[in-house]
Amino acid sequence: MRVVITGGAGFLGSHLCTRILGEGHEVVAIDNFITGVPANVEHLMEDPRFRLVRADVTDYLHVPGEVDVVLHFASPASPIDYLELPIETMKVGSIGTFHALGLAKEKGARFVIASTSETYGDPQVHPQPESYWGHVNPVGPRGVYDEAKRFGEAATMAYRNAHDVNTGIVRIFNTFGPRMRPNDGRAIPNFVRQALSGQPITVAGDGSQTRSVCYVDDLIDGIWRFTQTDHPGPVNIGNPTEISMLDLAKWIRDLTKSDSEVTFIDRPVDDPGVRRPDITLARETLGWEPVVPVEEGLLRTIEYFRNHPELLA
Ligand code: NAD
Ligand code: UDP
Repeated sequence: MRVVITGGAGFLGSHLCTRILGEGHEVVAIDNFITGVPANVEHLMEDPRFRLVRADVTDYLHVPGEVDVVLHFASPASPIDYLELPIETMKVGSIGTFHALGLAKEKGARFVIASTSETYGDPQVHPQPESYWGHVNPVGPRGVYDEAKRFGEAATMAYRNAHDVNTGIVRIFNTFGPRMRPNDGRAIPNFVRQALSGQPITVAGDGSQTRSVCYVDDLIDGIWRFTQTDHPGPVNIGNPTEISMLDLAKWIRDLTKSDSEVTFIDRPVDDPGVRRPDITLARETLGWEPVVPVEEGLLRTIEYFRNHPELLA
C-alpha cells in the first residue's frame, strides 16, 4: 500500500511512519514543521519507500500517483502549542481536513482522522464512551483545538455520507513516549525534563485532576488496526490506567531517582478534571488493548530523554 501521513514529522506521525514502513508499505509524510521536526524521521530517510514532503496541508494538497490510505495527523496537539497557534490550529483542523479528505476522495483511499479525547471537553460522563457528546466551551482558550477537532469529525462524516469515502475517526487519549519534545508543555515531558534536570516539578492546581496515559507503541498499534478496517468510528484508543497529576509527578520523580521538589502552579482555564477512555469498542472491533504497562512506558521515555541531553538544555 501507499500511505500518506499528514503531520508525519510529528511525535505520533513519526511513529506511524516507522510502523507502516515496518509493515512493508510505502509512506509519503507531509509536514510544514510548525511543531514537528525533520529529525523525527531522520532514521527513515535512507529507506527508498519513504518520502518526506515539506508542505502546508491548508494549501492545496497534491500527491501524484496512487494512494491507498490517508492518515490526517497534522495539527498542533499540545496545549501550549495550540494556545500559541490558535488560527493555524483551526485552519489545519478545518481547511486542512477538507484537503486531506479531498485527497482520499480523489484517490479512492481509506481516510483516518486523528481526533481526540478533547472532543469530550471537561467530561460530565466518566469514563467516556464514544456515544458521549462531550462538554466543550467553544469560546474558552482550548476551544480552538477542541472545536477544530469536532469540526474535523463532522467534515469526515459528511464526506462519508455525501461522497462515499471510506472514512474513520479515531479519538486519541493522552499518549506519551520517545520523540515528544521535552518543552512541548505536556505533563509527562515537562515532569521528566524537570526531574532529570533537578528543577521543580510543576503540578497544576492541587494535582487531583486525572488523565489516562498510553504508551505510544500501543496507541500506534490500535490506530494501525483501525486503519485496516472499514469501520467509521469514532473509536477511542487510549490506556484506561487513570492517574492524578500529583501522583504522576511523584511517580516520575521516583523513577528518575530525582530530588526535585514538587511545586504547584496555576491550573489552566477549562482544564478537564478527569479523563479515561471506555475502550470496549476497540476491544470488540479491533481485538486491541494496551499491553505496555505505564511504568514500563515511563521508563522508556525517561531513557530517551536521558540519551538526548541536548533536548533538556
Ligand atoms: P505534534 O505536534 O508532534 O505533530 C503534529 C505534526 O503536524 C507536526 O509535525 C506539525 O509540524 C504538523 N503540522 C501542523 N500543522 C500542519 C499543517 N498545516 N500542514 C502540515 N503539517 C502540519 O503532535 P502529536 O502529538 O504527534 O499529534 C498528532 C495528531 O494526533 C494531532 O492531530 C493531534 O491532535 C492528535 N492527538 C494527539 C494526542 C497525543 O497525546 N499526542 C492526543 C489526541 C490527539
Ligand atoms: N499539567 C501539570 N503540569 C505541567 C503540565 C501539565 O500539572 O507542567 C497538567 C495539566 O494542567 C493537565 C494535565 O497535566 O491537568 C495534562 O496536561 P497535558 O498538557 O499533558 O494534556 P491535556 O491537558 O491536553 O490532556
